[in-house]
Amino acid sequence: MSDNNPTTDKKSADIVMLGRCPMCKKRATLEYRPFCSKRCADLDLAKWIGGSYAIPAEETDLSELDLTDPTLEH
Ligand SMILES: [Zn+2]
Repeated sequence: MSDNNPTTDKKSADIVMLGRCPMCKKRATLEYRPFCSKRCADLDLAKWIGGSYAIPAEETDLSELDLTDPTLEH
């Protein structure tokens, strides 16, 4: 049971794997990963429930999303 290999540092791996929110492309948070907030997590869940889930296009523009997202809270 030797577990001192630096490549198995789970904390560092978690930070790297946070990546970006699949909903709005912002930085994900530990709390709501892989999403940036509860709001995005809920949106994703709603899409699954609605049966119309689709992976956001890579060309989705952040500024464009902000314009169409008046409920966004900072
Ligand atoms: Zn998000």
